Amino acid sequence: MKPSIYGYRLSEWQDYLASIGQPKFRAVQIYHWLFQNRADSLQAMSDLPMLMRQSLDASMQFTSLQEVTRQVSKDGTIKFLFRLPDQATIETVIMRHDYGNSVCVSTQVGCKMGCKFCASTLGGLVRNVTAGEMVEQVMMCQRLLDREGERVSSVVLMGSGEPLENYEEAMRFIDIITDQEGLKIGQRHITVSTVGLVPAIYRLADEMRGITLAVSLHAADDETRSKMMPVNRAYDILSLLEACKYYFDKTGRRITFEYALINGHNDKVEDARKLAALLRTIPCHVNLIPVNYVPERNLTRTPQDQIREFADELERQHINATVRREKGSDIAAACGQLRAQHGAE
Ligand code: SAH
Repeated sequence: MKPSIYGYRLSEWQDYLASIGQPKFRAVQIYHWLFQNRADSLQAMSDLPMLMRQSLDASMQFTSLQEVTRQVSKDGTIKFLFRLPDQATIETVIMRHDYGNSVCVSTQVGCKMGCKFCASTLGGLVRNVTAGEMVEQVMMCQRLLDREGERVSSVVLMGSGEPLENYEEAMRFIDIITDQEGLKIGQRHITVSTVGLVPAIYRLADEMRGITLAVSLHAADDETRSKMMPVNRAYDILSLLEACKYYFDKTGRRITFEYALINGHNDKVEDARKLAALLRTIPCHVNLIPVNYVPERNLTRTPQDQIREFADELERQHINATVRREKGSDIAAACGQLRAQHGAE
C-alpha cells in the first residue's frame, strides 16, 4: 500500500525534499497545490519539475478513499461511507451549523474500547487510520463544500475509533490541517474526543496545542461508568478528572464532557447532582446527548422531559450544560451505524 500524499507535515516535506536535493520552497508549492488549489493529480502541479512529479506519482497514493455511499439528511447533514485501499470502511460526516461546517473524522477502523452503547466497537479494532487518510476525509468534504463556496470551518475527531490511541497519526493530522500554507483550520476549531486515556491527556496538555478536549464521561460514579465503559477499570473517574484539570491549567481551554442519557442507566436527577459535584472545580461544558439507538445494543433514550430535568438540575448547580441538537438521525449518522449496516470489513 503506497502512503497517501496528504499524510505529511510541511516540515516533513521540507526534510524529504532536502534529502533528494530539491529546494525547500517546493514543499510550500506542493501544499498550495494540495490544499489551496485542491489539485486532484500530480500532473496538475504544473510548476513542479516533470521528473519530480513522476517519482512522487510512482511512490505515493493520490486518492485512497473511495466513496461507497453518501446520505443526505433533511437537516443538511451528509454522511459518507468510504472504502480504504485494503477494503476497510470508515464513516465521515459533514454537519451544517449557523457558525459554519464541521466535519466528523474517523481515526480508527472499528475500535477496541468496548463501550456498551456504541456501534463502532462491535467488531473490534481492525486498524488505525493514517494521518493521510484522515486528511483525505476532510478533503472529500471540502471538495463537496467548494461547490457551494463554503469551507470546512471545524473538525471533530469523533467518528469511529479512539483518537488518543492513535496518537501520533491524530496529531500529525491536526498539524497538517491547521497549517497556514494549507487548509488553515484554527486549532481552536478542532475537538479531540476521548474515552479518557489519562496518560495521553497529560501528554496532550504538555504539548499545548490549544485544541478542545472532549471527554466521554457518560456516568457520575465508577460503578455505573465501569459497566458502560470498560476503560474506566483502567482509569477511574477521579484520575480522569484530575487529568482534565491539568489540561485546563496548562492550556486554558475549557473541557467538554459528553454525557449520553440512557433510559434507566444514568439519567436520574440524583445522577445530575453527583455529576455536578464531580465537575464543580473544573471549567467545563456538559453536552447531554440523547443516546442514539443501536439495534445490537437495545438501549433506549431518556424521555424528553426527563432530559430537561437533568439539564435543569445541572444548571441549578451552576454547571453549564446543553442538550445536543440532533443531526442526521434520519440517515443513521451516528456512531458506526452506517458501517455496521454495510457489514463491517
Ligand atoms: N472514542 C472517542 C471518540 C469517538 S465516539 C470517544 O469515545 O470519545 C464519539 C462520541 O459518541 C463519544 O462521546 C461516544 O461516547 C458517543 N457515542 C457512542 N455511541 C453512542 C450512542 N449510541 N449514542 C450517543 N452517543 C454515542
